Amino acid sequence: MIATEISIETAIRIAYLLAAICFILALRGLSSPKSARSGNLIGAGGMLIAVGMTFSHGIHNLVYIIPAIIVGIVVGVPAARFVKMTAMPQMVAVFNGVGGGAAAVVSYSEFIHSSDVHSFAIYQIVEVLLGVIVGCVSFSGSVIAFAKLQELMTGRPVTYPFQQLINGIVALGILALAFAVIFSPHTSFLLVIGILALLFGIAFVLPIGGADVPVLISLLNSFTGLAVAASGFALNNTLLVVAGTLVGASGTLLTQMMSKAMGRSLPNILFSAFGSVTATSEGASAEARPVRSSTPEDLAVLLAYARKVVIVPGYGLAVAQAQHTIRELSDELKKRGVEVFFAIHPVAGRMPGHMNVLLAEANVPYDELKEMDEANPEFSTTDVALVVGANDVVNPAAHDSPGSPIYGMPILHVDDANAIIFLKRSMRPGFAGIENELLYNPKTTLLFGDAKDSLTKLVSAVKAQ
Ligand code: NDP
Repeated sequence: MIATEISIETAIRIAYLLAAICFILALRGLSSPKSARSGNLIGAGGMLIAVGMTFSHGIHNLVYIIPAIIVGIVVGVPAARFVKMTAMPQMVAVFNGVGGGAAAVVSYSEFIHSSDVHSFAIYQIVEVLLGVIVGCVSFSGSVIAFAKLQELMTGRPVTYPFQQLINGIVALGILALAFAVIFSPHTSFLLVIGILALLFGIAFVLPIGGADVPVLISLLNSFTGLAVAASGFALNNTLLVVAGTLVGASGTLLTQMMSKAMGRSLPNILFSAFGSVTATSEGASAEARPVRSSTPEDLAVLLAYARKVVIVPGYGLAVAQAQHTIRELSDELKKRGVEVFFAIHPVAGRMPGHMNVLLAEANVPYDELKEMDEANPEFSTTDVALVVGANDVVNPAAHDSPGSPIYGMPILHVDDANAIIFLKRSMRPGFAGIENELLYNPKTTLLFGDAKDSLTKLVSAVKAQ
């Protein structure tokens, strides 16, 4: 009997170890577009092992668990299959929020269902507190992030007087109650902490502008990882601790990398209400300055007879869903012997890897995508840089204007090319809300219109050459 118990225990540990290895290999796979698909499958395999093993050792409450799994599958599978690439950040926000909420509920229920909370050691109470606080902040913060990205509420930063002071007071209240729970473990205190943490999550996210929300989601994702790890400690479940730590660490690294690529510090992203005042180029000076625009036919000549063309995709390409048309144009140019590649800025678009995924969807070969550092030296020998729906990531103000909000952000050196073609709909600025001198550069020609329409016209015009 004892031997059987030991062998079951050993089997569970081995299965959990296998699942943990799968999660690590999954992260490794996800680090490159080539191996991302297999990485995803390995991660799913690890999760299957983990869930299967959990069911294999006497699980209770199947009447609640089975319907919950069915609801999860019915809602989750179609949502993941049919989500548009531009809606991916809000999808991640929903999944992240659900994870954080679940971790909070698990920690809370461990505490309230314990027969004797007074026998909890301090470290156990701290684990529960971490799970509840961080999980609740992550849940309510993700709900607001979702509402902003889905345009259910304004995407602009929501600010009000004494905002940071009020947030500070709520945070202090949570901290004070947390100490009270440690020294006098009452479930009612824990409930109030949970409610305050939910409020804090909302208040924390409100002043963050819509286009900064993906960075915030990455941060909330690392919070969720922390909450899951804490609930793993509370449940004495090694796999939850490992999985939570992996999510927490990768979320933290991703947040840092995104802030660095945007040339802004994390506190600036979280607390500066970036985007609340938009300095549009529709002001008097912008109206007075001439720009050069042209027709698809004239620009097609420039492209078709170039030796080297570098395509710079941005957020507008995703909005226009023009990834297939840009590939068509690139194929057409290559047929004519033009050297073509895509220059990818790390924060082009509205989430990390946005452009890579978008272009992969249109089967653009990976070796035609060059990262910023690899692409920048190429611009000086480029005949035409074709900027499609990108703005901030090519704005020279990042180099030339010390007062600019994007000063210091690494950019693609499009202005080194011999000629620049800009595809956009108007003179409106990009996410940062600042004018782009490149639009007024004598080397630049604009083709106004929706990127998909403009590219379709360019493809026909190049074919006609
Ligand atoms: P921008 O937001 O700077 O510019 C997008 C441009 O696309 C605009 O000038 C817009 O001009 C144009 N556009 C929009 N829709 C269309 C359309 N249908 N057809 C043609 N053009 C269109 O995007 P970038 O990719 O250059 O820069 C990304 C910005 O987002 C950076 O500031 C970055 O810091 C920020 N960011 C990125 C994150 C990431 O992880 N990738 C995360 C958070 C923020 P118009 O309206 O005139 O058409």
